[in-house]
Amino acid sequence: MTYNRCGNSGILLPAVSLGLWHNFGGMEDFQKMKEIVLRAFDLGITHFDLANNYGPPPGSAESNFKNILQSELGAHRDELIISSKAGYLMWDGPYGEWGSRKYMLASLDQSLKRMGLDYVDIFYSHRPDPHTPLEETMGALHSAVQQGKALYVGISNYDAEMTEQALDILEDLGTPCLIHQPRYNMFDRWVEEDLLSVLEKRGVGCIPFSPLAQGLLTDRYLNGIPEDSRIASESISLEKDHLDAETLVKIKALNQHAEQRGETLAQMALGWILSRKQVTSVVIGASSVKQLEINVATIHNPKFTSDELAAIDNILLS
Ligand code: NDP
Repeated sequence: MTYNRCGNSGILLPAVSLGLWHNFGGMEDFQKMKEIVLRAFDLGITHFDLANNYGPPPGSAESNFKNILQSELGAHRDELIISSKAGYLMWDGPYGEWGSRKYMLASLDQSLKRMGLDYVDIFYSHRPDPHTPLEETMGALHSAVQQGKALYVGISNYDAEMTEQALDILEDLGTPCLIHQPRYNMFDRWVEEDLLSVLEKRGVGCIPFSPLAQGLLTDRYLNGIPEDSRIASESISLEKDHLDAETLVKIKALNQHAEQRGETLAQMALGWILSRKQVTSVVIGASSVKQLEINVATIHNPKFTSDELAAIDNILLS
């Protein structure tokens, strides 16, 4: 594994981190998810990314992770960076989502309980709340650190302007923001406009999520929709409409380009993101040990020439 420094901090993160959003919930095979997590650790993945709502049902990914920690990984707690987040709907009534101090800190307590942990390494505001003062949400992150329940804080899904404001507030409070978690992949490049330069300027790390566009940027859908795929599972996050004819043409062209480089499309898509100097790590999902191994092997693949990057841009912008 390669480890990259997270912004200006003292923390190194693996180039590839594992996220537990899909495939780790209460409906999944526990033995299989345990094998994926343990193989990840053996491959040098020290960072596992969770959130209060990962499941389904919400919370079950954290509970399953607790069982894996208690049965195997717990002895390695000091070798792990475990993150959780609060922002999306978790419980009934007016205090069960968004960014109030009440919700953020209650949710963190629940996450710690579900994972059987005294602290998380990174606690995120999962999404900006348009109705709560940013000072309140950032103040809750700061309190989590002061209470010893989180070592570092992060933000996710904040645009560049709100990110700058959040970073200012956190800096004033004395709890600098460690990391930003935005969506970023070949099909969704919004961060390139200004977020990446803000993060670089401010010395904050960046860990893109859904780097494979939930599986579209792999060989998964080259010849139809496999029964065991995310699209076939009728997940609301990735629907059949996302795989329209135009997108499939691009996927096939990208796949050909990856073959010319002697790698899989998944590896090319991950390597492409990791070639950005502002990116600390990519947080991938995996539904099998094999996918995980293919994705981690990306770190050994050749760098991109400027001609290759231009050819990929041509495909994406065509
Ligand atoms: P990816 O874009 O990496 O998609 C993962 C899916 O792609 C897998 O479940 C699998 O799909 C397919 N896949 C992965 N590797 C391969 C391979 N080598 N060959 C073929 N198919 C492959 O990421 P996710 O969308 O799963 O997100 C990753 C993590 O990011 C989450 O677990 C979470 O931690 C974080 N996240 C954060 C969000 C936020 O708001 N902060 C939002 C979303 C995610 P299949 O299941 O079909 O096999």
